[in-house]
Amino acid sequence: MTFAKPVEISVTILGSGTCVPSLKRSSCSVLMKIKNRLLLFDSGPGTMRRLLEAGTTIFDISHLFYSHLHPDHTGELVSFIFANKYSNGIHRQIPITLVAAKGFATFYSRLKSAYGHWIELGPEMLRMIELDNGACDMCCFDDFTVQSVPVEHIAGSLAYRIITSGKKSAVYSGDTDFCESLIALSKDADLLICESAHPDDLKVRGHLTPALAGEIARRANVRKLVLTHFYPECDQADIEKECRKTWAGPLLLAEDLMKIEL
Ligand SMILES: [Zn+2]
Ligand SMILES: [Zn+2]
Repeated sequence: MTFAKPVEISVTILGSGTCVPSLKRSSCSVLMKIKNRLLLFDSGPGTMRRLLEAGTTIFDISHLFYSHLHPDHTGELVSFIFANKYSNGIHRQIPITLVAAKGFATFYSRLKSAYGHWIELGPEMLRMIELDNGACDMCCFDDFTVQSVPVEHIAGSLAYRIITSGKKSAVYSGDTDFCESLIALSKDADLLICESAHPDDLKVRGHLTPALAGEIARRANVRKLVLTHFYPECDQADIEKECRKTWAGPLLLAEDLMKIEL
């Protein structure tokens, strides 16, 4: 008799979209559950609503990671912090660890100069870790480790690799163009969640296409590839066929609230 292995990382795609308003695709955000920790990667507009739809709340988030500062990835940070200050029976009982590239503390203090105490949580409830924005970096937590690398998008853009104590790993690319650093970070990962913003024939500088994302997955030898961050023109193209030019392994096209267990 064989028993199923316990799930080490439960991934929910909260938003598979972009800055373009869409009922189908909320802005960029990914949720990962590791033991009793809930990690949120980016919080574009619509993230808190999708969190509720995924059966959780803002108070349960223990770690917040930002890939870069574009509004489709950071837009709901202000509302997130503000909502954490409101207490109506339930309130935040665990601190938030916010992880982002060097420069994020300055970005946050600029937001605070606009919003003041409305977005202040106090050092006992909000801890910020800035990672190197020009080289590989890492930080360790109780149940997982995070590695980061700079990627080709705007200054200070990072991709993250989460590794559990049981050695399962998931990579979140954030926004990026084709780059060797993402291939190195993704080496032999169980899952690569990779942006694929535009179809192959509409490539935009600073973003990937399905075939390029497939090439990264193939060279990194990942176990499963999830394409996400789809601009509306992706929904008119055959994204799977384009990705199959370069990638023969397991492939998922992200949809909001899609769940993947590792
Ligand atoms: Zn971006
Ligand atoms: Zn983006």
